[in-house]
Amino acid sequence: MIKNLVGALLSAALVVVTAGAAQAQSDYPKRNIVMIVPFAAGGPTDVVARIVSEHMSRTLGQTVLIENVAGAGGTTGATRAMRAANDGYTVIMGHMGTHAAAVALYPNLAYKPDVDFEPVGMAAGTPILILAKKDLPAKDLKEFVAYVKANNEKLNMAHAGVGSVSHTTCLLLSSILQVKPIAVPFQGTGPAMNALVGGQVDYMCDQIVNAVPQIQGGTIKAYAIGTPERSPVLPDVPTTTEAGLPQYQASAWNAVFAPKGTPKEIVQKLADALDKALDDPAVRKRLLDLGSDIPGKDRRGPQALGTLVKNEIAKWTPIIKANM
Ligand code: ASP
Repeated sequence: MIKNLVGALLSAALVVVTAGAAQAQSDYPKRNIVMIVPFAAGGPTDVVARIVSEHMSRTLGQTVLIENVAGAGGTTGATRAMRAANDGYTVIMGHMGTHAAAVALYPNLAYKPDVDFEPVGMAAGTPILILAKKDLPAKDLKEFVAYVKANNEKLNMAHAGVGSVSHTTCLLLSSILQVKPIAVPFQGTGPAMNALVGGQVDYMCDQIVNAVPQIQGGTIKAYAIGTPERSPVLPDVPTTTEAGLPQYQASAWNAVFAPKGTPKEIVQKLADALDKALDDPAVRKRLLDLGSDIPGKDRRGPQALGTLVKNEIAKWTPIIKANM
C-alpha cells in the first residue's frame, strides 16, 4: 500500500518534471541569450557574431547578447561555453580554430569539439588572406616570400593565440616557406589588425572579414587569398595559385554551438533563427560586403555542422602535427 503510494507520488512528480521541461522548451526563450565570442571585440568572429545575433534576436523575441571571453586562442571561451548550463541561454560563436584545429594543438583541451557541443549551424565561410603592414617592401606574393625567407626569425607575425585560425593558417605558411617568424599573440585579430595597421607587426594570415575595409582603405597590404577563386569584394587580390604559391590553400568558418545536452527543440529554434538571419537581404549584404561566403541551405543547420566539425578535425590534425 505504502509502496504503491510512493510509486504513485514518484510518477506524478516525474510527470510534473517532464511537463516542466517541455514547457521550458516551448516557452523558450524567456530571457536574454548570451553568445560567447571567444576573442576580443572587432575581429572576424566578433563581427560575424554581431551581424547574425542582431537578426536572431528579432526572430527569437529576446536579445542575443555578445560576451567576449578571450584567451588561449579561443579555447578559454569555448571551455566556458562547454561548462555553461545546457538550457539554451548560453551559446558560442566558435570557429575552425576552437572547434577543430585546437584539438591538435592542446593535448589537454578541456573539451572535445565534436562530442561536448550541440552543433547549431554554420554562420559564415571565411577565406584566408596573407596580409602585411603597408610599408613592408615586398610588392607581390613572390617578393613577400623572398623577403620573409631573407629575414627569417626577424619578422613579427601576429596571431590570435595558439590554435586560432590566424595561428594555424600561418603555421601552414611557415612550414611551406620553411621559416620561423617571431609569433606575437593577441586576444583576437581585432587588436592584431590594429597593430598591423600601426606597423608594430609585419604580417598576419587571417579570415577575410575585418581585413576588407582596411585593404580597401589602403592601410594594409593583401598579397593573396588562399581559396581557389578570387573574392568578389577584393577583385585585385590574386589567389595563392595565381600568385605562385599553390600549396597554400586555406579557408575557415564561424559557427554557432550550444553546450552538450541542450534540448533538441531549443537547438532547432536557434538553428531556425540563424537560418532566417542568413536569408535576410540586409544580413547577407553585410556578410558579403566583408568577403564572407554565406553557406547554402545544404551547409546550414546542426547536422551539416556536426559533419563539418568531424571533417575539419580530421583534416587539420595531421597538417598541424606535421608542421609543429
Ligand atoms: N580571426 C581570429 C583567429 O585568428 C580570431 C578573431 O576572430 O578575432 O582565430
